[in-house]
Amino acid sequence: MTLVLADILDAQRRIRGLADATPLIPSPFMTKFGGQDFLMKMETMQPIGAFKLRGAVSAVMALPTDVGGVTCCSTGNHGRGVTYAANLRGMKAVICMSALVPQAKVEGIRALGADVRIVGTSQDEAMYESQRLVEAEGLVEISPFDDPRVISGQGTIGLEMLAARPDLDMLLVPLSGGGLAAGVATAAKAINPGIRVIGISMDRGAAMHESIRAGHPVEVPEYASLADSLGGGIGLDNRLSFPICRDLLDDTILVSEAEIRHAMQVMFFEDRMVAEGASVVGQAAMLAGKLPEPKGPVGTVVTGRNLDMPSFLKIMAGEDIEIGDLKVSGQPYKA
Ligand SMILES: *Cc1c(COP(=O)(O)O)cnc(C)c1O
Repeated sequence: MTLVLADILDAQRRIRGLADATPLIPSPFMTKFGGQDFLMKMETMQPIGAFKLRGAVSAVMALPTDVGGVTCCSTGNHGRGVTYAANLRGMKAVICMSALVPQAKVEGIRALGADVRIVGTSQDEAMYESQRLVEAEGLVEISPFDDPRVISGQGTIGLEMLAARPDLDMLLVPLSGGGLAAGVATAAKAINPGIRVIGISMDRGAAMHESIRAGHPVEVPEYASLADSLGGGIGLDNRLSFPICRDLLDDTILVSEAEIRHAMQVMFFEDRMVAEGASVVGQAAMLAGKLPEPKGPVGTVVTGRNLDMPSFLKIMAGEDIEIGDLKVSGQPYKA
């Protein structure tokens, strides 16, 4: 099985008016820093505050009418997207999450009316529970990343970015299960085969990065991170997002917690915007000098804004923070 541009164009029709058309805006600070236009696709402006709505709406809109309910595992944003999409169709949503998911995300999903189940301490345990519910409760499972309609939904971001800026040379894509990167790379390379697409993850528990190096899906330990939305495995039986990322990504790059913290501060103090750690790993990689030399405009996807506000305020104030067993020492913002 693979995915082609036509699949992404189909998804574009399914999500139109519901989960599309976010702005692509320049960052003067990052443009000055990198010496090339730096453009940010503001998926933080989706109604659920994250791009995952695209894949969720793309998948849920394609379901037959006799489906009573949907289920998924989630690090927070996919569950919010699936619940929102299920509401559009009057279906019930059962969202399985691990105890690592920040409380703000859990509450956001409950507020939309989902039946939330907290199981275990890893995204993999949440995934097994969601798979069990398919049998036990007759629900349809929507994978956060390994589903053709989810990937093609996320791929519409690539279509919109290249429609707005056909001259983009490099795309920086936050990378976890790889649904976003697989979709964006499929769309972007179909339109411009010369474009470079780079996946970026945090340096602790980067499942896709390790899997591509190993040549097959591998399990990684899961850690607390400022980029909590990037946690979790890719599934040992991964069918789609792994082969697409392996074949289409030009590189995968890892960033540290301190680099993510700094990029969140840049986003706030320079671009005046609130974004999750997972959303600014592209900026983090560029600010840390970890990217290849851009030869033209650089684009990144600012994937979500659903963060824990008390931790965010501490990071901006330059205070130390603790998330689970993770300690990130504070540093007041300095350009
Ligand atoms: C899910 C998510 C990602 C990563 O997407 P994948 O398709 O799993 O690679 C990045 N940022 C945010 C905010 C997310 O919710």
